[in-house]
Amino acid sequence: MFALWLGGCATTPSQKFPYTTQVISGAEYFPLVEMCRADGVTWDYDPLSRIIVLKKDAKEIELLIDSDRAILGVAPIQLKNPVVLQDGVVWAPLEVRAYLVSVACPVKGGIPAQDDRRAVFLRPVRVVVLDPGHGGKDPGAIGKNGLREKDVVLDVARKVKTALERCGVAVYMTREDDRFIPLHERPRFAERKKGDIFVSIHANANRSRWIEGFEVYYLSEAVDDNARALAAVENASLELEEANFLESFSLKAILWDLIQTENRRESIELARDLGDVVSSVMNLKMRGVKGAGFAVLKGSYIPSVLVEIGYLSNKDGERKLEDPHYRARMAEAIAAGIMKFKMYSETASS
Ligand SMILES: [Zn+2]
Repeated sequence: MFALWLGGCATTPSQKFPYTTQVISGAEYFPLVEMCRADGVTWDYDPLSRIIVLKKDAKEIELLIDSDRAILGVAPIQLKNPVVLQDGVVWAPLEVRAYLVSVACPVKGGIPAQDDRRAVFLRPVRVVVLDPGHGGKDPGAIGKNGLREKDVVLDVARKVKTALERCGVAVYMTREDDRFIPLHERPRFAERKKGDIFVSIHANANRSRWIEGFEVYYLSEAVDDNARALAAVENASLELEEANFLESFSLKAILWDLIQTENRRESIELARDLGDVVSSVMNLKMRGVKGAGFAVLKGSYIPSVLVEIGYLSNKDGERKLEDPHYRARMAEAIAAGIMKFKMYSETASS
């Protein structure tokens, strides 16, 4: 790895980001002017107030030089790092790009449709927590050819992470390798990382081997029989955990349910966005957006969904999930669904 030192900063062309980037005080930045040229973002700079107004279509963000505060539409937001001026060039943290030009960012050839919903909750989605299901002693579902859920979902989650990071979104994963993480630890991890949304990734299995498709779940107590049966299977991992935890879990679940209710509406919107984008991009049968009482979604104080990316019990489903190209496409589609929700939740209803 070569680094060219200019004024104390390394300037390197980035593989995953479309503009020049450089590291300033430990964080990655890009020159705003490149985004304006390449993506048709207009800008207006007032040297007196040092405020920059960036506009693209209906989206608008105001930045202040040397500040990490910004205004997105009409909502004040906090950037992870301040905007800086260096030798007459304004450098912004990578996340700024996602606020203006990222809708089409993660998916090649599968741009989500324009969104005409109005956000009820203005909440920037800066940190995404991905939760690859199972791991370690808990393999999850196993296909007829031996494909294990824990391996497939880890690989897909890694690829979703890469796609989102390309758009300047910070991503944390509850597990980065093949290890057992108790279900109750997963939402707590999201809390520690100050996650804005939580997406648990699984692959399904059914006794009926002909069933194939894609499903998205949000937390709900009102469940249909299939969703209840699935929740029982995914929750089976609880039995692998400490017995004394189960006792405190049932007590805490009541409290968590109350907190979760506030997020249910947003969770449903996130589930719909993911379902819409994935089913259209992947040309997959959408088996519905459903509520189910997944333990992993309980205790989450942020919009949280669980996706089942396919059926390992189905011959075709397992064959597809064995294919690294298919997994990459699936990951891009999931990332695009997340970006669609991000745009939705950050669109000022003015
Ligand atoms: Zn699972």
